[in-house]
Amino acid sequence: MNIELLANLSYIVAAVLFIFGLKMLGHPGTARRGNLLSSIGMFIAVVAGLTAEGIVSFEYIIGGVILGSIIGALAARLVAMTSMPEMVALFNGSGGTASLLVGWGTLYGGDIATFTAVTVLLAILIGGITFTGSLIAYAKLSETINSAALVFTGQRIVNSLILVALLASCVMFVNDPAPDSVWLYSVLALALVLGIMAVIPIGGADMPVVISLLNSYSGIAACAAGFAINNNILIVAGSLVGASGIILTNIMCKAMNRSLANVLFSGFGAVKQGKAIEGEVKPITVEDAYYILEAASNVCFVPGYGMAVAQAQHVVKELGEILERNGAEVSYAIHPVAGRMPGHMNVLLAEADVPYEQLVEMDDINPRIQNVDVAIVIGANDVVNPSARSDPDSPIYGMPIINVDQARTVFVLKRSMASGFSGVDNPLFFGENTRMLFGDAKESISKVVAEFG
Ligand code: NDP
Repeated sequence: MNIELLANLSYIVAAVLFIFGLKMLGHPGTARRGNLLSSIGMFIAVVAGLTAEGIVSFEYIIGGVILGSIIGALAARLVAMTSMPEMVALFNGSGGTASLLVGWGTLYGGDIATFTAVTVLLAILIGGITFTGSLIAYAKLSETINSAALVFTGQRIVNSLILVALLASCVMFVNDPAPDSVWLYSVLALALVLGIMAVIPIGGADMPVVISLLNSYSGIAACAAGFAINNNILIVAGSLVGASGIILTNIMCKAMNRSLANVLFSGFGAVKQGKAIEGEVKPITVEDAYYILEAASNVCFVPGYGMAVAQAQHVVKELGEILERNGAEVSYAIHPVAGRMPGHMNVLLAEADVPYEQLVEMDDINPRIQNVDVAIVIGANDVVNPSARSDPDSPIYGMPIINVDQARTVFVLKRSMASGFSGVDNPLFFGENTRMLFGDAKESISKVVAEFG
């Protein structure tokens, strides 16, 4: 069997592993195995690619593999869960740069056809935008730079001029695709600037959506690079990343009831409130919370961003186990955009070994939330804000929420009356059946656990 055929067969195996791996990532119970399966697929793809391409000198490649593996392993081990979106931003930026370099390198292989020139152009263009866009997203999320939306007079005109110059440079480059062409440098420089200009007008809090979109771009850039060097697995892997990134972006926008255009161009952050809230805030002591929980036969935890900040997941699981031993049915209701990245709550609860069977999606818990004796909201705010359902004037009107206000009793664990990510006030805190347990979520839950003795 010739080497090329063998490589292509290996690529098919790798592609199948990628697809099954992706599918398995869709459920917390299978996600770890899905990740492993995709990694095996990537290993097969890399080995087959390196063997089939007739590479003579492996020194740099081996050096790169060792360095990359060390950085990857350290990053995965050391980066805090709350900083995961920043890490993904950096990884996306690296993916974009890699595609850019592969595209550029193709030009050194001699004369190329127009089709190849276009694919090289796309790899450089999209790779460049992804690189600087991701760096800005990283800097905003980590607050290395001001995370607010940066909008200035004449921004649209500047962006339009960049786009026109970029378009002209692209046409000139495809016309004469040489590795040292001035038009190539112009495309490269303008793509890098465009990446910056596209992300600076977006507020830091919307960065997870931007990162998901840039993830999709990095896939498209890889796909273009795959066409440029005629590598099937790069095309397949790039398409999978491109498609899944855009699907995820769409899911996030839907769960926030916002369009992608609104996220990218509205400078979200200047919040107007909806109807004035009426009612009284009723704080509760740890002892009283204990008595109510002691008598409850159905308890549902609803975690949000505050659980991640407090790192309360382990103690929450401990309380869950105590309640179960006490005879209660315990569940954990997960909102698709709770926290600051997709799957944020699933990852935290998995870290604390909460059984997957106890995780319930929003659409499954809402129809039976009336049967819940106590809904314990742990640092969630927007995702349980009933004005999304009832106040057409509210900026978050239409966003699907977990209807905890319809449970028999609601405990809200947070430190103050402050609003959440959207900046919108929450009438849940004033509800007849709501009790506020003020304080850091981890400390409050630990005290309740201590009451159970
Ligand atoms: P929110 O941001 O709405 O609210 C979090 C709450 O946690 C705050 O009100 C805060 O109140 C509380 N909190 C913070 N620290 C602690 C602590 N140590 N102990 C107890 N409470 C704490 O979070 P949600 O998860 O409800 O909603 C997520 C928001 O993020 C949504 O608006 C969503 O659209 C948005 N978003 C989500 C993305 C995703 O992929 N998941 C991506 C982009 C945006 P206090 O300060 O009083 O303690």
